[in-house]
Amino acid sequence: MISQAVNDRAPVLELDLMPESFFRIEKTKGKARLGRLTTPHGEIETPVFMPVGTLASVKGVPQDTLEELGAQIILGNTYHLYLRPGVETVRKMGGLHRFMSWPRAILTDSGGFQVFSLNELRKVTEDGVTFRSHLDGSSHFFSPESAMEAQIGLGADIIMAFDECTEFPADRERTRASMELTLRWAARSKKHFEEHKNEVPWGGRRTSDLRPQKTAELRSAGLPGEAVPTCSDQTQALFGIVQGGMDRELRRESALRTVEIGFPGHAIGGLSVGEPRELTREIVESTLEHLPVDKPRYLMGVGTPQEIVEYANLGVDMMDCVLPTRAARHGLLFTSEGKVSIKQARFAQDEAPLDPNCGCRVCQRYSRAYLRHLYASNEVLAQVLNTIHNLSFYLDTMRRVRHSISLGEESSSLSGVWSRPKP
Ligand SMILES: [Zn+2]
Repeated sequence: MISQAVNDRAPVLELDLMPESFFRIEKTKGKARLGRLTTPHGEIETPVFMPVGTLASVKGVPQDTLEELGAQIILGNTYHLYLRPGVETVRKMGGLHRFMSWPRAILTDSGGFQVFSLNELRKVTEDGVTFRSHLDGSSHFFSPESAMEAQIGLGADIIMAFDECTEFPADRERTRASMELTLRWAARSKKHFEEHKNEVPWGGRRTSDLRPQKTAELRSAGLPGEAVPTCSDQTQALFGIVQGGMDRELRRESALRTVEIGFPGHAIGGLSVGEPRELTREIVESTLEHLPVDKPRYLMGVGTPQEIVEYANLGVDMMDCVLPTRAARHGLLFTSEGKVSIKQARFAQDEAPLDPNCGCRVCQRYSRAYLRHLYASNEVLAQVLNTIHNLSFYLDTMRRVRHSISLGEESSSLSGVWSRPKP
């Protein structure tokens, strides 16, 4: 149990649904928390950034490189994996971890957000959502129950309740109706999960049983992955999702009622859907006040390097975003000196590393001139190297945030880790 001292406004703690060791807060500084999540596939130090691996692949980056970068947990998208290669295939292959040879933790989303993004191709009823595949136009149906079934079949360590992401802008009546639907779906998700949670494809097997030599070889030394495997008797953790649009009062109600249903962790969903950044921050800050301090808080789909530092300072424990990987494929790189568009002609004969303060294998080996050449020539290697650097930058940023909290440094200095002055 986490002491009440963590936050004076802490709601009354309820009985834990997960083993007490699922989430521990080790230190706090201001609202920022240094914590540890224990999953069936290893421990995760929080605050954590989770690279997005939509189709069981973080585009362009092999799994051993992800390990070397210190990725502790990656994200998979249920909607995409359900369509291709299909849940049944992954389940028969022993689950996502074994299928993609990734011994560390995985989180899958519920598919709700992706289906929401289909716009014209979906129809929402009380039962669930009928949608058309973006691949071939075929018709499919997701419900809280089928989304749980899919996520249990994929076998991620952390899975998400099925929710409706409210569009932006939306009036209050529409936002409330959508929030109520998400609450009903959350209760249905939990019920189905509780009845079927022992059906995970890796149930009862330790990660070390799966090709033991191979995983040991792949794992890099001195990284968090050394903790793998742990707790084989632990099952998946189902998180609830807070909705409520851009309405602070509805967010509060959604948070309280989601907490009441009883989840080992909570996500803040429905943000980064086109609203101004300032509003995102305001909603996150006010929603966090209503979430229990002793459970992990996951902010979905955010953000820039500066934003992930800010949100960690506000008390967010987990974040994911396609930005570092997607931007990398478009030649946009994040560095300690700011954003760099590597396609620019001024780098054509620049012998310096991309980021002189970065220790990643790209910055240690290649020049800006070479990276620019690869990009201009449309070489596949450009996407690979750019993505490795951007991920390294994000993961390093979070590592520095964790280090600052562990030293008890002032919160204000946390945002300074990124905006380092130019030499
Ligand atoms: Zn680098």
